[in-house]
Amino acid sequence: MGRLGRHAILGGLLVLSACSKGDPEHRRDWAVMGTEASCRIFTEDADRADRAFEAVETVFDSVNATMNTWDANSEISQLNRTPADSAFTLSPWMVDCLHQAIRLQMKSAGAFDPTAEPLMRLWGFYRREGRLPSPMEIDAARKSMGQFYLDDAWGRVTKKAPATAFDLGGIAKGFAVKQCERDLREIGIADALVDLGGNMACMGAPPSKRAWTVGIRDPLDRDRLFATLELCDESVATSGSYERFVEIEGRRYGHIMNPATGRPAEGLLSATAVSHDAALADGLSTALFVLGFDGAKELLATAFPNVNAVLVIPAETGGKPKVWITSGLDGRFELLEEYSNTYDLLAEGR
Ligand code: ADP
Ligand code: MG
Repeated sequence: MGRLGRHAILGGLLVLSACSKGDPEHRRDWAVMGTEASCRIFTEDADRADRAFEAVETVFDSVNATMNTWDANSEISQLNRTPADSAFTLSPWMVDCLHQAIRLQMKSAGAFDPTAEPLMRLWGFYRREGRLPSPMEIDAARKSMGQFYLDDAWGRVTKKAPATAFDLGGIAKGFAVKQCERDLREIGIADALVDLGGNMACMGAPPSKRAWTVGIRDPLDRDRLFATLELCDESVATSGSYERFVEIEGRRYGHIMNPATGRPAEGLLSATAVSHDAALADGLSTALFVLGFDGAKELLATAFPNVNAVLVIPAETGGKPKVWITSGLDGRFELLEEYSNTYDLLAEGR
């Protein structure tokens, strides 16, 4: 295998770090929340690696059981079936995740919204068959969003409108990765990569490397990578409408909703967020995608100075698509050679 061998194509990102023979590498793969997950661990201690994989598997099982809207028996599906004005007691994880989602909702002025479920439903994402909603239907769905009350202290949530429903798909995978990372550290693992559908925690680095090298998918051709990032003890997530979409009358509509318009967001080709907090990276990649270039830049500068990002901006008439990176990625972001004529790089930072 070459230096860039042994890679896994997952979500918006791809792991490229190669390792040579004899490295104490352990790897396991799973199917979680409708996507692929993997964990790579470097340790001489095989028992410790086994314990780590068990912990990761437990986290994945729990997140499936709590936050998977596709499973009618999951906690979130039960919550969504609960009538308005009736308190639903959440598991501790749901409290944590919802709490973080609400914080992000407030900081992003509603671009991230854990109650985008009615919009997702309206546009046909749960049926996997698109339908163009009427402006009245969009209005009605938007009115049911955000209509809930979370009682942190008691871990209870109460919906205020019958149609209010939660979809944590924009943050749950990152939240799971964050729990895995915490468990791995507790078990004494320092160098590992946890990947849940492209939401990655890059812990430490592979042997004799400074960092993990992860690839970012080309949003215009998701089977290819257009750039790489070097990450050490950081998490990363990418959002793009190319990942999941419905087709309506020959047009593609992506799965990330703009709560302000009630329509699929379409300002950016993709948004990648790098943070020490995997849940924040996941949620924020969604919010940045919703906000579009100017809004995303402003949110990063004002509310998230410690988060790094890669934003891919669609081409204007006659021009090329552009890639903008925060200055914290200078020297760690590389546009792959074969893409130097495809994308213009805006590397001036913030
Ligand atoms: P992916 O699921 O491909 O990793 P994201 O992390 O960007 O991509 O999450 C997109 C998912 O988030 C959607 O499939 C939906 O479940 C949910 N979602 C859609 N719009 C929003 C929004 N405005 N805020 C929060 N979550 C959203
Ligand atoms: Mg996300």
